[in-house]
Amino acid sequence: MRLRCLAAGLLIASSIAGAQTTTHNPPAILIKGGQLVDGTGSSPRKADLLIENGIITKIAATFDATEMGNTMTIDATGKVVAPGFIDTHAHGDPRDEAAAFENFLAQGVTTICLGQDGSSVRVAEMEKWMRSIDENPTGPNIVLFVGQGTIRDESGTKLSENPTPEQLTTMRNLSEQAMKMGCFGMTTGLEYQPGLFAKAEELRMVAEPVGAHGGLVMSHLRTEDDDQLFAAMRELFDQGRAAKVPVHVSHLKSVYGKGAPRAEEILAFMDKARANGDRITADVYPYEASFTGLAILFPAWALPPNKYDEVVATKRDELAQYLRNRITKRNGPAATLFGTGGDAGKTLEQVAKETGKPFEDVLIEKGPDGGSAAYFIMDEALRQRLMADPHVNICSDGSPTMRHPRGYGSFAKVIREQVTDRKTMTLEQAVHKMSGLAAETIGLTAQKRGELKEGWAADVVIFDPPKVKDTATFENPKQLAEGFDIVIINGQITRQDGKMAGKLNGRMLRKR
Ligand SMILES: [Zn+2]
Repeated sequence: MRLRCLAAGLLIASSIAGAQTTTHNPPAILIKGGQLVDGTGSSPRKADLLIENGIITKIAATFDATEMGNTMTIDATGKVVAPGFIDTHAHGDPRDEAAAFENFLAQGVTTICLGQDGSSVRVAEMEKWMRSIDENPTGPNIVLFVGQGTIRDESGTKLSENPTPEQLTTMRNLSEQAMKMGCFGMTTGLEYQPGLFAKAEELRMVAEPVGAHGGLVMSHLRTEDDDQLFAAMRELFDQGRAAKVPVHVSHLKSVYGKGAPRAEEILAFMDKARANGDRITADVYPYEASFTGLAILFPAWALPPNKYDEVVATKRDELAQYLRNRITKRNGPAATLFGTGGDAGKTLEQVAKETGKPFEDVLIEKGPDGGSAAYFIMDEALRQRLMADPHVNICSDGSPTMRHPRGYGSFAKVIREQVTDRKTMTLEQAVHKMSGLAAETIGLTAQKRGELKEGWAADVVIFDPPKVKDTATFENPKQLAEGFDIVIINGQITRQDGKMAGKLNGRMLRKR
């Protein structure tokens, strides 16, 4: 299948079963003969779908375009037609060379949510940032969340444990401004600086404007360690209740937790809170390794505002002991795979062997700012059970540059693994978790995105499910996924047959 534009405004021929019509731009697109998996979770049905000016204008059992001139026909016989996928937790900067985000497009993702883990563009620069995307379209559509950590920095609170009343008011005002500019909500990163300094009152105040504007608070919890997971979730649910805002657990997982029964307990904990009126959702990425900065391994007392050099000079033995215990608990040094710097691609165990040093000394020398790593700390059975929950959608937590396959493989992996190979999910369930459910969770259904319906935005993917494959691995993490034949964003073909096609058409989406 190759789309060739022989001459602007003359003929566009799509080789999907030789479909062709005369047209001028932008042509309407008629997708004929496909199995519609519409994103709501309902069963596939055969239907034709017409796209005009970026909108799905008609869905019908069969549709005759002969009287319609100006239309490009795509024969999708034997293929699935689905809403473009929505990644509720993504990373990357659209203003740099990553603007195309082909890593996401190749997975069928047509919208990504940025500003994660408490860190976003500053509120003072947000309007300009959004306008720059209006002026320079991206690959996928962009949804922005404001970062609580960013607001904390911007308010001058920074690493202070006790913000002044003025600082609290400033944080609340920044949150309000961000929501008025069109953010879909706020993210927190309570396991990271400066979020880890935030306490209940601050978390309530900064989230209230989010609730008032109908937004969502997404949280990288204070800890994801199994033994403290419920307390960390409780803190988020309390924030939601106090600030009257729905909350979302980002990349739900249990570090060290094992087995499906443990997942059942975690889900039951969430169900119980839901039964008490809390509005709670979560997303999961389909890998057993996390990826983040080495600071995640270090104790708070080795992080700013404390000076790392001084900590090493005065408490080296204590730090070594802490790191030894922490790594042992996190499945040992073979389970930490460096992703940046000269040791990228090597495990902590390998580096320790090569340098002849105990692994804790390797970490002490690198320090908390010494790069990032993948950590093989999750249990597959537990993760799969979490992923199956009806309130859990799929995310990648990936980026174009991160040395972790999730940025290139997540959505394709779920289809290959859960739908094609193991049959633990139906295609319509998987698609729902990647589109309709995600849209509903972040508030995009109100903008008519995330499902295939008449009058809704034409973000559409066409694929043959058994051909969908994630090819990215931990050894070669930056390999594009395969099998999404056509990716349509805002009514225009953006990627086709494994190649970018034409100009970027992703938009800055603003909450209205
Ligand atoms: Zn995170």
